[in-house]
Amino acid sequence: MDDHRRLGRELELFHADPLSGAGLPVWLPAGAAARHSVEEYVRELERRAGYQHVYSPPLGKRELFELSGHLGYFADDMFPVLRLSPDDEFVLRPALCPHHALVYRARGRSYRELPLRIAELGGMYRPERSGVLGGLSRVRAISLNDAHNFCLPEQVGAEVAEVLELIRVAHAALGVRPAGFRLSLRGPGEKYVGDDEQWRHAEDLLRAALSGLPYVEAPGEAAFYGPKIDIQVRDAAGRESTLSTIQLDFDKPARFDLSYADSRGRRGRPVMVHRSLVGSMERLFAYLIEVHAGAFPAWYAPVQVRVLPVGPEQVAAAEEFRRACVLAGLRAELVVDGSLGARIREAAQRRVPYAAVLGAREVAAGQVALRLRDGRGLDPMAVPDALALVNGVVAGRSAELLP
Ligand SMILES: [Zn+2]
Repeated sequence: MDDHRRLGRELELFHADPLSGAGLPVWLPAGAAARHSVEEYVRELERRAGYQHVYSPPLGKRELFELSGHLGYFADDMFPVLRLSPDDEFVLRPALCPHHALVYRARGRSYRELPLRIAELGGMYRPERSGVLGGLSRVRAISLNDAHNFCLPEQVGAEVAEVLELIRVAHAALGVRPAGFRLSLRGPGEKYVGDDEQWRHAEDLLRAALSGLPYVEAPGEAAFYGPKIDIQVRDAAGRESTLSTIQLDFDKPARFDLSYADSRGRRGRPVMVHRSLVGSMERLFAYLIEVHAGAFPAWYAPVQVRVLPVGPEQVAAAEEFRRACVLAGLRAELVVDGSLGARIREAAQRRVPYAAVLGAREVAAGQVALRLRDGRGLDPMAVPDALALVNGVVAGRSAELLP
């Protein structure tokens, strides 16, 4: 595998600029196009699984993070508090849970609404030390695929199992190959909230969800509020990091006094499941760039079709084909300068899945000749057939370039 920083530069996916700041990379158009496709896919997957999406600000009142426990237990991993005036202080949030607890309690809840699944691809901030920052794998501004699933106590087991299945589906579509499952538990000498009984109960639930899967136990890797299942990936240098996670939390529902009315109208306390299917967009793409060596599946390739007229006489027809691609929902660009051979090579170097070549013969016959980035070439085919081929692969989110 190649280092994602080198490929990110070569393929113009993102840009690290000292003026932007360490750990604060900028997504360039190609990287943003790929990310956009992945975000759309994840949002749709969640929507179908019953999630409701919200937006919340990455900045919040100091009191919100005192209530959540973050300032008491997690302050070392947060940026310093911002002070407008002595009684008006703000926190760059290190997590989305406090805002999602506010969504839950924005009105009264009935047990019939549970599990209530609140999702957001939201911004958050962590002051990682500058020594560990590099590319997209460790950043200070994080865009997290996050959700908080508020459940009845008896729903937690099934909810965790369902999230594990969604993670499996998302990984398969993106080409993520997990390095292993980890059950992250409390360790000695750290600060944790909640009593032993709660922790044992939560650990038992997660162990049950993992039964049948190979996993390791990792003492000391739990969140401060509960144990978690972490799904690990390995980077090009062999370093392991957590991509997807499922965490159980009995603490925040109590801190925020979250409740629901049960079937007899009595108040019950929901359990909060924090989960991320694919982690942060930054860490996800650091991994995807390396595991695919920049050659993403066609559905999230930054440019899906490069249109190459053989000579000046075919430029108009090539531009027409490019427009047809764009209208069909594809990302396509026209490249006219340089020899045809050099342009075909460059398209492959750029990991563009399809080069569409139009010579005099193809234009006369209303055809294009597709060349794949792996060197395979197809016989010329009618324009609508070529569009249907590429669209079918993209819509099916196939890992292959041919149906
Ligand atoms: Zn959370």
